[in-house]
Amino acid sequence: MRSLRTHFELGDGVVKAVDGVSLSVPRGRTLAVVGESGCGKSVTARSILRLVEKPARIVGGEILLHPDSDGEPLDLLAAKDKRLRQVRWADIAMVFQEPMASLSLVHTIGDQIIEAVRLHENVGKQAARERAIEMLGRVGIPDPQRRVDSYPFQLSGGMRQRAMIAMALSCRPRLLIADEPTTALDVTTQAQILDLLQDLQQEFGMAIMLITHDLGVAAQVADEVAVMYLGEVVEQGPASAVLSQPKHPYTQALVRSVPRLGARGQERLVAVRGTVPPPYERPSGCRFHPRCDAFMAGKCDVTVPTRVRSDEIDVACLLYGEEKS
Ligand code: SF4
Repeated sequence: MRSLRTHFELGDGVVKAVDGVSLSVPRGRTLAVVGESGCGKSVTARSILRLVEKPARIVGGEILLHPDSDGEPLDLLAAKDKRLRQVRWADIAMVFQEPMASLSLVHTIGDQIIEAVRLHENVGKQAARERAIEMLGRVGIPDPQRRVDSYPFQLSGGMRQRAMIAMALSCRPRLLIADEPTTALDVTTQAQILDLLQDLQQEFGMAIMLITHDLGVAAQVADEVAVMYLGEVVEQGPASAVLSQPKHPYTQALVRSVPRLGARGQERLVAVRGTVPPPYERPSGCRFHPRCDAFMAGKCDVTVPTRVRSDEIDVACLLYGEEKS
């Protein structure tokens, strides 16, 4: 995606939920998009498949789906609705935090997977049912021959999330967008689901875009991390570098707020100072300046930082040089 901008046009003004975000996820890799609630992560993810609803509107940018072989990429923002429906599930699938929001309550999970497969592939009902059973088995649902005829409410939260992943992967998508897929789950199930996603990624070679507020989850699975604040990416780079040697004061504060395995007893966890400002009140200059411990008066509140490369990380902070007026 290049320079994506998604705004909420409300009676009182415009909320710039996503304001010029550029990200890419190569095949077989995992990008974690992290940040506090309200930083624009989920709106970014939903914009990819044009799943934002009024009053939200995508007002600019490109979302390019590159073909596996040579050829022109498809701009999803310019694609006709019919073409976009073909892309959903078959090329790009989404998993949400709450599977009940995506699964139909009145259909069995098998019927829902079968419908998704047959919508995109020319296969008979029996073959699609066998695919559904196979996928339910692959995601660790016991006795899939029987569970395929279960309704979502007959499954536990962890099983429903697995069923949602089975449905998302049933058409072998090239990109899986997982929006807080484990937030509602206990830690054991969370670890199992993350392992499962990694195994399936290796098996199918898909790209994963993981939306999470949890840096521990990002550290566990991501190759690359993008940190968002108030609709902008403020830091991006290899997960190992961003999470161990963060450059941006916001990322540094996020990292300090997370418990570390092996940390010395005296090490204190410190929450990020202040709160995300209300959406209408975008601070001047650097959007993070009211909360920043490294704030430079007359500079950070005036000048909008551009992204610069520092070591192997891209960072938008005036501590690292270049400026834009
Ligand atoms: Fe802090 Fe200034 Fe950097 Fe913004 S530009 S993060 S206020 S030091």
